[in-house]
Amino acid sequence: MSGISKILIANRGEIALRVLRACKELGIATVAVHSTADANAMHVRLADESVCIGPPPSRDSYLNIHQIVAACEITGADAVHPGYGFLSENAKFADILDAHGITFIGPTAEHIRLMGDKITAKKTAVELGIPVVPGSDGEVLPENALEIARQIGFPVLIKATAGGGGRGMKVAKTEAELEEAVSTARSEALAAFGNDAVYMEKYLGKPRHIEVQVVGDGFGNAIHLGERDCSLQRRHQKVWEEANSPALNVEQRMKIGQICADAMKKMKYRGAGTIEFLYENGEFYFIEMNTRLQVEHPITEAITGIDLVHEQIRVASGAGLSVTQDEIVFSGHAIECRINAEDPRTFVPSPGTITHFHAPGGLGVRVDSGAYAGYKIPPYYDSLIGKLIVHGRTRVECMMRLRRVLDEFVVDGIKTTLPLFQDLVSNQDIANGDYDIHWLEKYLAETSA
Ligand code: ADP
Repeated sequence: MSGISKILIANRGEIALRVLRACKELGIATVAVHSTADANAMHVRLADESVCIGPPPSRDSYLNIHQIVAACEITGADAVHPGYGFLSENAKFADILDAHGITFIGPTAEHIRLMGDKITAKKTAVELGIPVVPGSDGEVLPENALEIARQIGFPVLIKATAGGGGRGMKVAKTEAELEEAVSTARSEALAAFGNDAVYMEKYLGKPRHIEVQVVGDGFGNAIHLGERDCSLQRRHQKVWEEANSPALNVEQRMKIGQICADAMKKMKYRGAGTIEFLYENGEFYFIEMNTRLQVEHPITEAITGIDLVHEQIRVASGAGLSVTQDEIVFSGHAIECRINAEDPRTFVPSPGTITHFHAPGGLGVRVDSGAYAGYKIPPYYDSLIGKLIVHGRTRVECMMRLRRVLDEFVVDGIKTTLPLFQDLVSNQDIANGDYDIHWLEKYLAETSA
């Protein structure tokens, strides 16, 4: 593969390890960067070189662009993989790397900007032929909110233009609730993103969250790798994901996939991306595009056999995609459980030292985690400590395997979300694939003491 010989991984935790594994397979040298809190992390131990880039707070280390560029210069890294979160969707970072002659393993800064602002992203989606949620054409202000809401029809959802992680989002069921919803969404958006711009969408009552994985080569070729169903969420955060969606048949899958791939061809999109939709009554409604690798990418890898990080590195180096759409074969079913160091019911974080750690194995089982016995989970970061991905020939087989695998998994010393998955895997609605984006919150409310 041309071009890239040493990759600096600008991330931590399971995703840093995930990227490192891909680099090793491709024979590319690796540089880990870490905060002082992560000196003993697995990705640091396994990397060819490592550089400490600052103290624990993310803004001083994993978000510190100067330190990361300096680490590239010191080690001679010619490319950076940003993982997800942190700087992965930071257009300025992509620009700065470019100015230093370092390859950003991701899309162009222009495409990151286009999709980073949700109003612009929706407009672009419409131009590219992607169906969107009915809503305001642009920003919603206190003075025009009522008129727009009446046109859309209640209930409506107020969302932050700069949004992410479900923050700055407020529902107004009636006219009476509108004023407050707009003002709270604006102040939440300002606090979370430093930008109080909000827009409005029709609030869908019982949708599923279905997203399409795409990869483009930057020259006008693009493929889709099917969809993932991420409807099981709490506070708009994904908990359990599956591929394929239990709600779609082959025709629906290939149709929405082709719409997304065609859109990426038109854009000349480079890199991996995810086009997120809400799905209700047989219709897809675009909500946003993530211009990076997603946490839940392994379930797509499980059903296609394609390594998405390999593809990201290939297209970043200009080598093009390794497969054409015709060559992609969807096989079986995969489920991912996000294992967080949290109480399985209240989701209160539970940092501390892992005393025992036993990861399950066997056919169709993948564990992406940097955790090990004796590992001390620092309190400063996201509480995701690992992902369990199970594959089977059918959804039924996948669920049977998941039940067995959850029994085998041991993480002692801290609380984890594993017991929640043990409950879910035995639940009849889940077995039937019969759930929407509100199902998990309702279930948690009904089953908590
Ligand atoms: P964020 O970037 O903050 O994650 P998204 O636009 O991706 O925001 O939406 C996150 C979640 O919020 C969705 O998965 C869905 O559960 C809910 N949501 C977003 N838009 C709507 C809508 N128009 N109607 C109902 N629920 C929505």
